[in-house]
Amino acid sequence: MPTFEYAPAPESRAVVDIASSHGLFIGGEFVEATGGKPFKTVNPATEEVLSEVSEATADDVDAAVRAARTAYTRVWSRMSGADRGKYLYRIARIIQERARELAVLETLDNGKPIKESRDVDVPLVAAHFFYHAGWADKLEYASLGSNPRGIGVVGQVIPWNFPLLMLAWKVAPALATGNTVVLKPAETTPLTALAFAEICRQADLPPGVVNIVTGAGATGQAIVDHPGVDKLAFTGSTGVGKMIARSIAGTRKRATLELGGKGANIVFDDAAMDQAIEGIVTGIFFNQGHVCCAGSRLLVQENVVDEVLRRLKRRLGTLRVGDPMDKNTDVGAINSKAQLDRITELAGVGEAEGAERWDSGCDLPTSGYWFRPTVFSGVSQSSRIAQEEIFGPVVSVLTFRTPGEAVAKANNTPYGLSAGIWTEKGSRILWMADQLRAGVVWANTFNKFDPTSPFGGYKESGYGREGGRHGLEAYVSTGQETT
Ligand code: NAP
Ligand code: MG
Repeated sequence: MPTFEYAPAPESRAVVDIASSHGLFIGGEFVEATGGKPFKTVNPATEEVLSEVSEATADDVDAAVRAARTAYTRVWSRMSGADRGKYLYRIARIIQERARELAVLETLDNGKPIKESRDVDVPLVAAHFFYHAGWADKLEYASLGSNPRGIGVVGQVIPWNFPLLMLAWKVAPALATGNTVVLKPAETTPLTALAFAEICRQADLPPGVVNIVTGAGATGQAIVDHPGVDKLAFTGSTGVGKMIARSIAGTRKRATLELGGKGANIVFDDAAMDQAIEGIVTGIFFNQGHVCCAGSRLLVQENVVDEVLRRLKRRLGTLRVGDPMDKNTDVGAINSKAQLDRITELAGVGEAEGAERWDSGCDLPTSGYWFRPTVFSGVSQSSRIAQEEIFGPVVSVLTFRTPGEAVAKANNTPYGLSAGIWTEKGSRILWMADQLRAGVVWANTFNKFDPTSPFGGYKESGYGREGGRHGLEAYVSTGQETT
């Protein structure tokens, strides 16, 4: 078969202008931190330093919480839902206007392919603000209870895999329901949150309604521990989620935790095979596999496993791994050296435990952090690569014979975030979906997101839902006023 080379198709960086250093966004202003050690954020595809970012200390977090409290009591909690909605619409439109800039910035700071930040992340970010703008004046009709209103100051801590999208999942419902926010982006991906701070100014959002504090785990911990925070919303690892749950036990703080996952993507022998192969690829190689709900465990019906593996490997041979700024790139850079080390270590464990390791052998760039899309077959249920989250472009393949066995294997995990089912039979899809202990079950598709659809986990994948009407519940008080 003749093969055709791709011409380079680089997206232009000219649309972004990254300041060499950044302050914190507190009370509507960019301010200097009070003595934390500034840190650098890099482009993981090149290791180039993009900017220097401030580290917020506990004092800075305190200032942010105070600004949020003042904005809550004086302005935001008194404003009508219709007026709050206007600000959210304005933010959504500015995000659309600045979509290209945000996509480029996200790709530079995170390493994800530009086609994903441009076509998935940023459009979903705008959609989340539009969707929640629509709810702001309709909370009474959302079946949330009588007199639904904000809780107060919300502390939000987010990870690096979908930096701006996780911000949108957190900020949009908080603001729509009348809360004010102190948010910490991840250490390796702070730049789009800081761009969002500028967008808040551009939208004339009242000062203090959104505050952005950058820093590492200690800054997150300061938000969690601050007595002035009424509710916490966290997305990240199960380990840190458990620490947060312990820290707030015995306080009046409410929390929602969106944690890790080890999603089962289940392929039956009657599945439309070409679509299933694409779904497996989307399930685990989208965003370099840095996806909490990734289909990282592929369960294939035993009689078709050879065919599935053959077709999957052929397809993976065509994936383009490399420069995230190239519009033809399918798989970009691993977000950090630390994450690359974790993936490398767990892949080593998979081999040591006797699973068969395969990758396409594609060329990788010489600088930056990279990992080839990798398939482990012959994986046993007890293997660490079948149980632990790798959070990288690595799929573990297991087999099953009957639907019952597929369910038992899929549910045999401490997590419960997502699952996928590939079969022609609608009745089997419904039966399986009923049995699977997973917050999201996709049928004949995978990794599809929409602001109207609630997302969240069972078991160690956390508690609470984000998105949809259910997502509003976490951000409202109801009943009589108590203060
Ligand atoms: P992580 O280490 O838990 O970090 C998440 C956030 O928490 C980061 O902003 C981090 O700061 C901060 N943090 C670290 N220690 C903290 C502490 N003691 N107190 C408060 N905040 C603290 O997770 P990650 O490695 O960035 O992200 C990967 C994990 O997130 C995966 O396990 C993935 O499954 C999960 N995730 C879940 C969802 C979901 O919706 N369920 C979505 C995306 C990701 P630093 O940046 O400085 O570390
Ligand atoms: Mg970075």
